Amino acid sequence: INVQDKINLLRFRLDRQSHITIDQEKCAACASKPCLFACPAGMFTLAESEVLYSHEGCLECGTCYVICPGKSITWHYPKGGCGVSFREA
Ligand code: SF4
Repeated sequence: INVQDKINLLRFRLDRQSHITIDQEKCAACASKPCLFACPAGMFTLAESEVLYSHEGCLECGTCYVICPGKSITWHYPKGGCGVSFREA
């Protein structure tokens, strides 16, 4: 089973309020933008030099928060009962 198939087995309960925010001013000063490559769920994309993100499919690994060199990302767990539910294949 590959990673995408495993992700497809997960269940998500949407928290309408994003648990991820980006300080776009700080982010613009970052040349490497590792969040674009490190997120296992592909939540970050680049659009005309601005990093866009989605929180709906977040796996709650915290990689983006830890890896961001400019500390542009604010991250916390979704509110209780929301977010990802993991289960075995
Ligand atoms: Fe992606 Fe993990 Fe950050 Fe969620 S916490 S957006 S899965 S890197």
